[in-house]
Amino acid sequence: MIPLDELLRPTWLFGQTVHEGCDRGGRYEQAEFADEYGSPLCIVKLGCWGPVVQCNVGKRGWMNGVGGCANVGGPCIGCAMPGFPDKFMPFMDEPPGAKLSTSAVSLYGNTVRALRGFTQASMNREPVWRSPDVGLAPSEAP
Ligand code: SF4
Repeated sequence: MIPLDELLRPTWLFGQTVHEGCDRGGRYEQAEFADEYGSPLCIVKLGCWGPVVQCNVGKRGWMNGVGGCANVGGPCIGCAMPGFPDKFMPFMDEPPGAKLSTSAVSLYGNTVRALRGFTQASMNREPVWRSPDVGLAPSEAP
């Protein structure tokens, strides 16, 4: 028998949330939230329920690993959940709990994103010791 959860769903399919397998998870963590469709940012404010919906389509894709609603810009509307559709309507509205969670994440995410920007800029430069000019006398430097 394959492992099942308390609702008799296969745990390999329903053991994680959409959010945990979403390509946009890093955007959420850095408080980068989209306010319009077509954006590569996290779409939680456009109605994505991924943080609480148990479904691994983001990791599995729809076919041959391609797709997954939130990965391609479609807010997760909870279609794999027992309470669908009633508990997830109206679709495309920000989930009630997201207002609190995104406010909390914004405090942390905006700070961390700014700090990462400094580190990233530094890491994108070659170390000084690799410069061909290192060790040259000032008169020899180009
Ligand atoms: S798009 Fe949805 S599932 Fe993906 S990171 Fe944002 S809230 Fe989570």
